[in-house]
Amino acid sequence: MAVPLLDLKRQYATIKDRIDKAVLGVFQHGKFILGPEVHQLEEKVAIVSRSKYGVGVASGTDALLLSLKAAGVGPGDEVITSNYSFFASTSVISRTGATPVFTDIEEDTYNIDPSLIEKAITPKTRAILPVHLFGQVADMDPIMETAQKHDLVVIEDAAQAISARYKDRVAGSMGDFGCFSFFPSKNLGCAGDGGMVVTNSEEYNTALRMLRLHGWKKKYHPEVVGFNSRLDSLQAAVLLVKIDYLDEWSEARIAHARKYDDAFAGTAIKTPVVRDYSYHIYNQYTITVGNRDELMAALKENQIGHDIYYPVPFHLLECYKDMFYKKGDFPVSEKASESVVSIPIFPELTDDEQNEVIEVVKKVSA
Ligand SMILES: *Cc1c(COP(=O)(O)O)cnc(C)c1O
Repeated sequence: MAVPLLDLKRQYATIKDRIDKAVLGVFQHGKFILGPEVHQLEEKVAIVSRSKYGVGVASGTDALLLSLKAAGVGPGDEVITSNYSFFASTSVISRTGATPVFTDIEEDTYNIDPSLIEKAITPKTRAILPVHLFGQVADMDPIMETAQKHDLVVIEDAAQAISARYKDRVAGSMGDFGCFSFFPSKNLGCAGDGGMVVTNSEEYNTALRMLRLHGWKKKYHPEVVGFNSRLDSLQAAVLLVKIDYLDEWSEARIAHARKYDDAFAGTAIKTPVVRDYSYHIYNQYTITVGNRDELMAALKENQIGHDIYYPVPFHLLECYKDMFYKKGDFPVSEKASESVVSIPIFPELTDDEQNEVIEVVKKVSA
C-alpha cells in the first residue's frame, strides 16, 4: 500500500463545501488585496497566539524578513540562530545585510541549545531567532532571559508550530515577534503562499503594516523603502475556514505520534522527545536511525512518503562557503542531518496506512 507523506486532497474533501463558499465569497466582493478576510484572520491568529496584533504577509519567509526589518536589523548587525532548520530561517538574516551567527542544537529536540547562545553574543549582536522545529517550541525561558540581559530582540520562527505550547504560553507570543507560515504543508496551510507576524508592540505593528505595503501609510508617500508582501484575501478566506479545525487536526497528529511512539519503543529507532514543558503539535514526526540509507531504500520501494529535514546544516551550505565555518564545528546538528528521517503524520492518515509504515520501519531499523 502506498502511503503519502502528506495528502491535502483528503483534507479538502472533509471541508469542501465551506472552502468553496469562502473562495466564491471573495470573487463576489472583489476585494482581493487586504480585504475583510485578511483583517478577520489577523484577529483570529492574534487570539490563537495570545498576542495583540496580527499582520498578514505573503509568506512565512517574509514574516521573518519583515520582522527583522521592523526591528531595524541591517548591515553590520549579527543575529543568532541555530544552524538546523529550513533555509528561510537564516536566508532572511543574510538578506537584511546582517550576518547570521550559528549555534548547535539540542540532541533530543533539534531546537537551539540555549546554553550556547551567550557564547555567541558579540557587541554586534542585535537579535536571537529561535526556531520551533517540527512543532515543538524551543526552550524559551533561558532564551528570553539571555535576550533581556543583553537587550536583544527575539524573533520566533514558529512556521512549524502555530498553537504549540511552552509551559502556559503559546508559540509566537513570547518573543518580540512571532512568525507563522501558511505554506500548504504546515499545520495551518493555505492554497499557496501566506504568512503572518504576531506582536504585542504597537510600534512594531505599525512598522510591519508599512513594510508590507511599500513602506507607506499614506498611498504613494513611503516613509521607508518597503515591500509588496500581503496575504491575499483568497488565502485568508481559506485559512478562516481551516483555523476552526486546527486543534482537532493537531490532536489527530498527536494521536498518530503516540501510536508511532508505542510501536517503536524499546527498539533502536529513536522517536521524538517531548519535553515536559511542551505541547508538541508534530508538523513532522522525525525519527533517528542507525541505517538511514537502508531505511530510505525500503520506504521508497514500498512507496511510503518520507523526507530528510534537513540534509545540510546551515554552516555547510554552498551559499555560505565564504563564512568561516567548517565541518566539525557543530557536531550535534551534523549528526542529526546524517541520521534523521521524517515519516507520514498528517491528520487524515489511516490506521492501515500507519500500520504499514510501522511494519516497514521496524523491519529495517528496529
Ligand atoms: C516553512 C518554513 C519557513 C518559511 O515559510 P514559507 O511560508 O515557506 O516562506 C520558515 N521557517 C521554517 C522553520 C519553516 O518550516
